[in-house]
Amino acid sequence: MKIMIESQKNYELPAVKAIIDRIFAEFALINKLQECRTVLLKPNLLGAYAPSRAVTTHPVVIEAVIIKLQELGKEVWLGDSPGGSLPVSRVWQVTGIDELCSRYGVRLLNFNTAGISEHKLHGESYQLAESFFTADAVISLAKYKTHSLMNYTGCIKNLYGLVPGLKKSDYHSRYPTYNDFKRVITDIYEICCRRIVLHILDGIDGMEGEGPSAGIPRNYGILLASVSGAALDVQAAGMLGFKREQLAYLYECLNMEQIPEQEISVDTRWQKYVFPNVKIRKVNQIVKMIQHSPRFMQDIFRSIYKFYPDFNDNCRLCGVCKESCPVQAITMTEGAKTPVIDYAKCIKCMCCHELCPYQAVYIHKSFLARFLVK
Ligand code: SF4
Ligand code: SF4
Repeated sequence: MKIMIESQKNYELPAVKAIIDRIFAEFALINKLQECRTVLLKPNLLGAYAPSRAVTTHPVVIEAVIIKLQELGKEVWLGDSPGGSLPVSRVWQVTGIDELCSRYGVRLLNFNTAGISEHKLHGESYQLAESFFTADAVISLAKYKTHSLMNYTGCIKNLYGLVPGLKKSDYHSRYPTYNDFKRVITDIYEICCRRIVLHILDGIDGMEGEGPSAGIPRNYGILLASVSGAALDVQAAGMLGFKREQLAYLYECLNMEQIPEQEISVDTRWQKYVFPNVKIRKVNQIVKMIQHSPRFMQDIFRSIYKFYPDFNDNCRLCGVCKESCPVQAITMTEGAKTPVIDYAKCIKCMCCHELCPYQAVYIHKSFLARFLVK
């Protein structure tokens, strides 16, 4: 399995575009996309962070891929579901995505509101962005970072952004330990990986320390690409200095794709390369405490880590939330001052929160959730 690694120290568009041209040629993308009309880009747009913070995929990398796809005559879609409870429009603005998409006429999709499809695997049911499955092809544009819970985040973890809204935080509360949560990540990768024609990892500026958002930007100066996200991640995480036993979820995905580790092929220059002194040890203290606590403590954590949508007095009973709820969890009752949510049905996608025209839906957070859900 070929991994392509190209050195690039900065985000100058002509140089980045030249690399994207070489990547497309190496992986025969022109042939692979021949029958495709629409191509969905899935960058990492974790939150409202400026590109210089190295939390999100840099807009120049995205721009170079958009230009390439439009040269090939493709209709480009771009989508993500950022984490946390900030309005998605704010994330689009701060990360530079809305300006980029309007400049190139790219269809920008908020995965929280653009439709959800359900997928069952290994006894679990996953609600994922529908457009990921309706686009003719998908290119993942991930970011190269350390991660406080999973140690490393790259291509595989990027697909967690297909989970709508605060449902992501819900999985974190249901599966607070590494071992439990990695099952969610590997399942989502298994459901999605065959639709992705190419993974590109933006490691020009990546992150070390307390990723995925509170770490320190670091200029690794590389762009990586492969048709296997698992193979790419195994190579890239190793270059940060992680040991095999710290990367169990990557190796599980590699096995699932039936790629023998010895068949990962990379230029000799990078074969044993490890970036010096990468800060990978610090983890979020709350997460660390939960990970190492006994099962009954984890159950207590689950019971006090709560968040859910609710209504305030701004409600004018317009019904937009009821119409937009993907699982019909909202009902309007005659005489009531607000709609009612059936929390047994609610998947916490936060569609109602985002689409209410009167800011009448707020997110109720328990004391602990106020610390952990921004
Ligand atoms: S969309 Fe907002 S204002 Fe309209 S019914 Fe729902 S909560 Fe009330
Ligand atoms: S009530 Fe419906 S729209 Fe609102 S968060 Fe729950 S599932 Fe989403």
